[in-house]
Amino acid sequence: MKGIIENLIEELTRLPGIGRRTAQRLAYFILSMPEEEARAIAGAIVDVKEKARFCRECFNITDEELCSICRDGSRERDRLCVVEEPSNIAVIERTNFFRGLYHVLLGSLSPIDGITPERLKLKELKERVEKSGVKEVIIATNPNTRGEMTARYIKELLSPCGVTVTRIAYGLPMGGDIEYADEVTARPWRVGGSSCSGSTLCLRPVFSQGTEHQSIEKSVLFRRCVSLLTVPQRTEESEIM
Ligand SMILES: [Zn+2]
Repeated sequence: MKGIIENLIEELTRLPGIGRRTAQRLAYFILSMPEEEARAIAGAIVDVKEKARFCRECFNITDEELCSICRDGSRERDRLCVVEEPSNIAVIERTNFFRGLYHVLLGSLSPIDGITPERLKLKELKERVEKSGVKEVIIATNPNTRGEMTARYIKELLSPCGVTVTRIAYGLPMGGDIEYADEVTARPWRVGGSSCSGSTLCLRPVFSQGTEHQSIEKSVLFRRCVSLLTVPQRTEESEIM
């Protein structure tokens, strides 16, 4: 029979990014913690599994009918930011540049894996745009093939709705993942107003001028510099198709 420590180590290795050695360190750390702290961790895990559900409006994770963002009366209700996963919301919230509401698709299009538009919250997005007076939809799907395909689909889907549809410009290379965006790389996207009309799919090529975050890899930095060199001079307001 497995010992209790061995059991905890094995359970911890189920978590992403946790190898056996890290699991071992965590297990012994938990063992040395005050009992109430260890119980708080265990309780939080149980809570999230028992109480978490999707927000009725935006499909963010919440323990109530509406998530805290949808309930917040100070948010701009005519702006929607479309993301793939609930975890993407936290990344954008950290930038402090977006004060509108979100819409979580719960994935991205991938016909080869059977992820068709019906599997995502796209119908709900269109209904929401039609019914709730949304004026601008900002697509923040990942800058990879699936994210791009999804963005184009949304552009087509919303074209009869007469809303402004914009695609965010990332300080991330193509093929990247929004999960890895830090505050500096994600930050520039909401700078400047929108001037495109109808259902034009736009890109806002806004690059941060400040000090680069140390965690940005050289290759990322390089691509951003190349972008700066190859993109003609633009103001923060400009867009490219
Ligand atoms: Zn919500």
